[in-house]
Amino acid sequence: MRSFVYLGPEQIELRQVPVPRPGRGELLVKVKAAVTCGTDLKTFRRGHPKFPPPFAFGHEFGGDVIEAGDGVEAFRPGMRVTANVFAECGQCFFCSRGQGNLCENLIYNFGAFSDYMIVPEPIVRRTTFEISPEISYEEAALVEPLTTVVHGQRRIGIQPGERVAILGAGGPVGLMHQQLALRAGAAQVIAAGHSDMRLEIARQLGATTVINTRSRDFIQAVRDLTDGHGADVVIECAGTKSAWETSIEAVRKGGRVLWFGGLPGGTTVEVNAARVHYGEITLFNLHGGTTLDSKEAFDLITNRVIQVRPLISDRLPLEMLQEAFRLMAAGDAIKIAILPELSAE
Ligand SMILES: [Zn+2]
Ligand SMILES: [Zn+2]
Repeated sequence: MRSFVYLGPEQIELRQVPVPRPGRGELLVKVKAAVTCGTDLKTFRRGHPKFPPPFAFGHEFGGDVIEAGDGVEAFRPGMRVTANVFAECGQCFFCSRGQGNLCENLIYNFGAFSDYMIVPEPIVRRTTFEISPEISYEEAALVEPLTTVVHGQRRIGIQPGERVAILGAGGPVGLMHQQLALRAGAAQVIAAGHSDMRLEIARQLGATTVINTRSRDFIQAVRDLTDGHGADVVIECAGTKSAWETSIEAVRKGGRVLWFGGLPGGTTVEVNAARVHYGEITLFNLHGGTTLDSKEAFDLITNRVIQVRPLISDRLPLEMLQEAFRLMAAGDAIKIAILPELSAE
């Protein structure tokens, strides 16, 4: 079978390797769709601080169970499944406090950019789901990013009638956040980004105002749209230092900011202390999501409470993964489904 191995920044290789056999508690899955993620692109460009190469690449997928290892009861060959990239241990200090996303022994699941992959035992047990017939493999694959968005929404707790501004709105997580904000009853969702193509999708998915930050100042635009106060909630999804800092200026006194997009290690952010202190601005952060968040994310996709299909802008065969990253880096794509059975011809 073919499997992409990550070797270092800008270095990935499609290798021929034997089809693995599942061990106890594991699943062998034939990948039907693997979806690119912002984390994959970041890793492709500059490596990942937690995972030294080489490793099998890709983590958002939907596929068919080919073989179930001993002891697996919930899944059998022929079932259509997806799984999250991580599962908590359930035992450590953080897990025992209901904060499994901060687990000290998180188990990860990689190798989706391949013909087949093994899903590890803790993930099979906690965060693997059977896909219902009306949901496609590529839609189900989005359970992982949506888990993190669900977790972020739980923390920020949007109330009915609130005005929400999203910075980095046209990206996949921004588009998920805006749908959940509307579902929570937000009266206004201001979507800001710099790609007209992506902002058009934000508009189609219900954003009340879209702002292209190349031609309009985000802070001023948000203030203009909120009687000069600023938004009740600002969700930062751009993953840049300036976006983190800008968020604080665009939120109203007494408002909340969610810094969703991670910054490279060693980054220092400057906070206007007087504004945060006297303005009673609450700052939220997050890392991943719990098993419970994964279940909720999967249900949101299954019940089509949120639409994930518009987030997949392109479909490419496995051997064109590099091209997928090029399209993403150029801002010409949102998420790309890699289909191992699609021919490059
Ligand atoms: Zn992902
Ligand atoms: Zn744990």
